[in-house]
Amino acid sequence: MTFFDAMQRLSRSSTSPLFIGGLELSHPDSAEFFFHQNADAIFFFNHLGEIIYFNEKLPAMLGYSTETLYEHFGVFNPPEQIDAVTAFFERALTGETVHYTAQGLHNDHYRLTLKITNMPILQDNRVIGVYGIARDITREKQLEEDVVQIRSQLELTEHIPELVVFHYDPSTRSIEHSASLMNYLGVSSDELGTLSREQLHNLIHPRDFDPLLFNMERLIDCEVEMFEQEVSVLNASNGYQLLRLKAFRRPENNELISVILYDLSEVNEARRQLTLEREQTREIYEALDAAISQIDPSTGRVLFHSQGFLQIFEELPEDLCLSQKWLFERIDERDHLAMKHFIQQLLSGKSGTIQYRLRFPDGRRKWIEDQQLPVFHLDGNIAYSNSIMHDITLQKEYEERLQQLALIDAITELPNRQLLTDTIEEWMKNDQSFSVLSVSFNRISEINNAFGHASGDQWLQATSRILSITKPEEVFLGHLGGDEYAMLVPSSYSDDITSCAEKLLALSANPILIEPYELFARISAGVSRFPGDSQDAIELLKHSYTALRRSRREDHSTFHHYASNLDIDYYRRYRLEQDLHYAIERNELFLEYQPKVDSWTGKIIGLEALIRWQHPEWGRIPPNDFIPLAEESSLHLAIGDWVIETACQAMNSWARAGSNLIPISVNVSPKRFLIPGFEHQIEQALLKYNLSPHLFELEITEAALIMEDPNTNRMLEHLSHLGVRIALDDFGKGYSSMVYLQRYPIDVVKIDRQFATHIADDAKAQAIVKSILYMASVFSLSVVAEGIETIRQLETFRALNCPNIQGYLFSRPVSTEIMQSYLLREILYPIEACALTSEGTPSFSIEGKIKMLTHHEMALDFDYSDIHAHQTDTRHLYFTTEVPLPLNTATFEVRLSEGLQLVSCTLTVIGFEHGQYIGAYTNTSEAELVLRFFQSIRPFI
Ligand code: C2E
Ligand code: MG
Ligand code: MG
Repeated sequence: MTFFDAMQRLSRSSTSPLFIGGLELSHPDSAEFFFHQNADAIFFFNHLGEIIYFNEKLPAMLGYSTETLYEHFGVFNPPEQIDAVTAFFERALTGETVHYTAQGLHNDHYRLTLKITNMPILQDNRVIGVYGIARDITREKQLEEDVVQIRSQLELTEHIPELVVFHYDPSTRSIEHSASLMNYLGVSSDELGTLSREQLHNLIHPRDFDPLLFNMERLIDCEVEMFEQEVSVLNASNGYQLLRLKAFRRPENNELISVILYDLSEVNEARRQLTLEREQTREIYEALDAAISQIDPSTGRVLFHSQGFLQIFEELPEDLCLSQKWLFERIDERDHLAMKHFIQQLLSGKSGTIQYRLRFPDGRRKWIEDQQLPVFHLDGNIAYSNSIMHDITLQKEYEERLQQLALIDAITELPNRQLLTDTIEEWMKNDQSFSVLSVSFNRISEINNAFGHASGDQWLQATSRILSITKPEEVFLGHLGGDEYAMLVPSSYSDDITSCAEKLLALSANPILIEPYELFARISAGVSRFPGDSQDAIELLKHSYTALRRSRREDHSTFHHYASNLDIDYYRRYRLEQDLHYAIERNELFLEYQPKVDSWTGKIIGLEALIRWQHPEWGRIPPNDFIPLAEESSLHLAIGDWVIETACQAMNSWARAGSNLIPISVNVSPKRFLIPGFEHQIEQALLKYNLSPHLFELEITEAALIMEDPNTNRMLEHLSHLGVRIALDDFGKGYSSMVYLQRYPIDVVKIDRQFATHIADDAKAQAIVKSILYMASVFSLSVVAEGIETIRQLETFRALNCPNIQGYLFSRPVSTEIMQSYLLREILYPIEACALTSEGTPSFSIEGKIKMLTHHEMALDFDYSDIHAHQTDTRHLYFTTEVPLPLNTATFEVRLSEGLQLVSCTLTVIGFEHGQYIGAYTNTSEAELVLRFFQSIRPFI
């Protein structure tokens, strides 16, 4: 069975990965290779204990053929051991890793001594089988046992038959001996009896001869009762062999001397082997940095230790007993508890790893990682625990440094958002009030774009330095991101947070040096307070940032306190963000089309698709209000796709209605280019609606290109190659880097509307437009001027030789149907819209405030916004306001004041006509009061 098949059987065809000892078996092939390379026998049991897979070492070790090994483990165990082994197997099934030494039955009926490890195999956190490793240590065990046995033989020589024994009678000089001696020495019994001193001398190694003689004489002279000695004796094959000689007077016959010789060569070989192996292991252990030791966990006694052990502890107790007292004196107090748990766990037989700190008398500390693997007697008691220790001080230091880096911003070297949040949490614990002051310098993206990232970094360093220098010592300063910072201001300062913030805003008066420029910043700030605004660190930071965003909407340096009650505008953004998710499916989006014409003939040369959102409550939402919201989430993707699809569909319907088609352009969010496959999306839409790519144009702003993303370039090249045209929108509004024109396949430049506004009277605007036109001619680009509203503007552009125009003068953006009639007409005439503003400015107004009370019957707590009330009758109030209001679904409180007079009422907004909202009074008596209020100011109304 292959490993893969075996795993399939184990895991019952589930696709989840298998884990052995924390390692994922993700690649069956490489796992199989690993198993077969392994020096030990490796095998897998199913949960019943049947072997279902093994490497080739197992049959070799047990002497079975491969086919006969798929058996229960009981088959390979001596009967008396099965209960103990089953207990270990069951522990592995409960998720534990166990190590033990046991006997295995060889096919040839002898027993092997095996060192065994069992580990659980896990899938989906369930144990589905057991992984086993076995090493044959029979030979080591045998050698060890030999030594023990022979040692005891030395003490019980009489019982050992193979030894050479002879008896010597000094009075008769006769020798009674066994045949083995003669065989051994290669002399006949007669010869032995008459061995001369010289011959004896020749038989015994010269080194041993004199001591032997000396001892023997002392024994004969009764000076000693016995002696023992090692002697090298020349044997039959003419080689010296080391024998142990024991001579003593026979207890029953004091005259007689018995001499016993026994062969030491086997013992010596066993000793030599053991010593060699121990030496080899020791060499390896000594070479390792790790400290390896064997410890009796119940007493702490060190049974064995490598050199590295000393390097870690630098000293050892004299009795080699790592008692808990000794250990805990050296372990850092912070790790005592963990160590106690660890020892408990070890004593209960579980292996594990712990990291702890050692303290030394000179103040040094070391981080130690200790892995302990208990090894059991067959009776289930712990024999000893193998321990591997590493000095991980360096690794810990790196970790700490990395953690530092993760908490400190690399450029400003200030604590980052994470550390800020952590610190807020810490301050919160102290239960003292403090403020979070968020600050933005508002220029980082502009500087990055205009001068490059190196200058951007300089800006960050400069702004962070300014804050570090000016902040009081007790204030904690951190970096939020970009050129935005946050300060934690303790209560001593935060009581006067206003003057604190004002000092900060005053910094905007000083230029900041970014070689070689001096730049000024508009500073926006926001304040939230603990405990008033939130009890949660992240939320508190968010609130202060919300207040900062509010300040940023104003065009000067300012700060705001966080207020839980938002204003209507803020609320509207929030609601729109929610509703935008459903805008497509509720059919609230549609496109309008604005023609681009030849500036001389008025012939339509192209059209731009512009998205619209007709919201049921808030009315028509301009794209500049909701496209940025869409870009904050991934909604812009769905909306962008919808625009391309709808524009292509419109082209197809115009073609079918018989119009001559001219190129259509769509606007693309810069972020769209970051998603791969956009180019194929366009290709598919063109194919679906049978449109030539030459009739399709993408309008992108510089923001899309500023990112300098290689993908953007690849997509644009691909589309350009297809024939799709690329227009650079709002040219002149941003940084208008010529590099983009050179680097990207741009076909059209659209001159931003701001130039049209000033062109007729502004020589500088004319000069810029002139240079754009010149540059376009050099790069062979087509040009469209946007936002032409008046004949004068048209004439100026004509005079500058601008070929194409887009603007209200020729047409506002119009519906599909009107566009169709335009296309059939082909030519448009300039019509100056003189009534454009007349409806917008009523002649009379009273200043007031409006506040939303309920929306969809939900009570709200908002701030007031400004309104101008122009007219009233008994039922309606007519007013204008900058903030868009929802129709029919909300109630408002309105307050009007003039001098010392004041009046208030509640109303529902029911319509929007001629630039004015129409509010219906909820209460007739209030309506009357308002009417009288108006009449008191303008009695003739
Ligand atoms: P844009 O691409 O520069 O579009 C031209 C904008 O100028 C349009 O505003 C258009 O109605 C307006 N406009 C045209 N002629 C005149 C004029 O003579 N006077 C004045 N005052 N305005 C004129 P709109 O439709 O509000 O769109 C604003 C911006 O929203 C667009 O600027 C474009 O950047 C974005 N946008 C519009 N539709 C989409 C879209 O489908 N996707 C994306 N991503 N953005 C869009
Ligand atoms: Mg555009
Ligand atoms: Mg534009």
